[in-house]
Amino acid sequence: MQAAASAEAAGGRLARLHSNLCPPCAPAPAAAMVGHDGTSDLKYSQVNPRPLPDWSAAERATHERLMRRCFELARQAVDNGNCPYAGLLATAVNADGSGGEIVLEHCNGVYGKDGPGQYLGTPGRPDLTDHGEAGAIRAASALLPHDQLATLSLYTSTEPCAMCSTAIFWAGCPKMIYGTAGPARGALGNMDGYKDIESPYSGNYGIVCAPAAMGGRGIDSWRVLDGIPNALGETRTVIGPLLPEEGIDTHYYKEYWGVAKPAPDVETRWGVPVTALDGSFS
Ligand SMILES: [Zn+2]
Repeated sequence: MQAAASAEAAGGRLARLHSNLCPPCAPAPAAAMVGHDGTSDLKYSQVNPRPLPDWSAAERATHERLMRRCFELARQAVDNGNCPYAGLLATAVNADGSGGEIVLEHCNGVYGKDGPGQYLGTPGRPDLTDHGEAGAIRAASALLPHDQLATLSLYTSTEPCAMCSTAIFWAGCPKMIYGTAGPARGALGNMDGYKDIESPYSGNYGIVCAPAAMGGRGIDSWRVLDGIPNALGETRTVIGPLLPEEGIDTHYYKEYWGVAKPAPDVETRWGVPVTALDGSFS
């Protein structure tokens, strides 16, 4: 009886996520959320995250400082006319909170310095791959030897896309720490501009990382990175969401996706109105 109820709840979550990611499609039928490793596709999600590491208060404070810097940079990206994303590379953080020195920062620069008018036909062309994380790694690759790059942690305001996850893989970063979850988790599902076609180039990105049970390809950052050793023998670890309430605020900044931040009297979870979550996330 309990198993049946839980399967029904899982079906509800799937249906809701699917409708967020692929509005024209009919809701997905109830299906087991089992990933390639036999575990739930959503077990590490913002909805039901793996617990954060057992950091000391001092270490956690340093990670949070670096993440808040990512959020600041994501807003700066919007101010520059780009998408609300940014990443940075920093040295490892020690248990006493020392370390965590920023080596390189990168704001999303898809539309260039002059903003989104570019893809609408004004002079200049966008760099469709200039995301916060991939951009940071590309720049760092030109500056640092690989064995040094492979010791740095990558922080990013929002869980990275498949391209950036793979760039982080090639860089060998042992830790990838993200602020708020991405489209695979439904965390951005209420952003009208996000679930629709973002630009003539991108299409419905969410379907790339959505679990197979939702008709997606299941290529998310956890699958690309988590648990795989790097060339130095250190196991890559994905950590997040860290400060998701603040992270999702970067997506409301200047109403980038065409959605205003919920009023203070609106009940939210992770910064998203509960009504938008359809009650399925609990
Ligand atoms: Zn990306």
